[in-house]
Amino acid sequence: MLNIVLFGPPGAGKGTQSTKLIDRYSLVHLSTGDIFRANIKGQTELGVLAKSFIDQGQLVPDEVTINMLSAEVKKNPNAKGFIFDGFPRTSAQAAALDALLESMNSSISLMLALEVEEEELKRRLLLRGKDSGRADDQDPAVIQKRIDVYNAETFPVRDYYLAQNKYKGVNGIGEVEAIFTALCDQIDAKANS
Ligand code: ADP
Repeated sequence: MLNIVLFGPPGAGKGTQSTKLIDRYSLVHLSTGDIFRANIKGQTELGVLAKSFIDQGQLVPDEVTINMLSAEVKKNPNAKGFIFDGFPRTSAQAAALDALLESMNSSISLMLALEVEEEELKRRLLLRGKDSGRADDQDPAVIQKRIDVYNAETFPVRDYYLAQNKYKGVNGIGEVEAIFTALCDQIDAKANS
């Protein structure tokens, strides 16, 4: 299996690049943010719970997120591999993901990180908020909170994959196609190693 964690702060371009990567490599895309938003739209119990955290720029609790992600992985027993987008966002999630994949005799192949500086992130998120309808992209205080939570809780997850020699950083500023090519180069180098 080819299992990729697509990593980076809010607004780094994970969703955009995921769409292109799943096409190229025939992978299943699991975006925890997208799944939460679908549940919010459908007014499920999970959606109501998730919304209370998302609207504040906070993370949904680990137990809830891990259970949801595990269920989504298990819905795809024949997948050639996964792109995990927005997961893991905490060290506990990273450990849970390893355990889950190990139970399937698989593992994470690579963490690809989109590197974008904070000012650019804020600019992109506010721009996206104008037409996406995402409430969490419209309030500068919520955006700042998400970036702060990223720096405090999510950025350290990088060390978890660095220690396993699986971390590759890519410059997330520039043309979408150029960034996509840089990501593909990393994946192909890994596949051929
Ligand atoms: P972005 O990366 O642009 O902030 P996402 O669409 O990935 O947005 O996620 C939106 C929100 O969903 C996050 O701010 C967070 O509240 C929640 N969320 C998404 N993934 C996770 C996760 N793995 N753990 C906890 N909360 C999450």
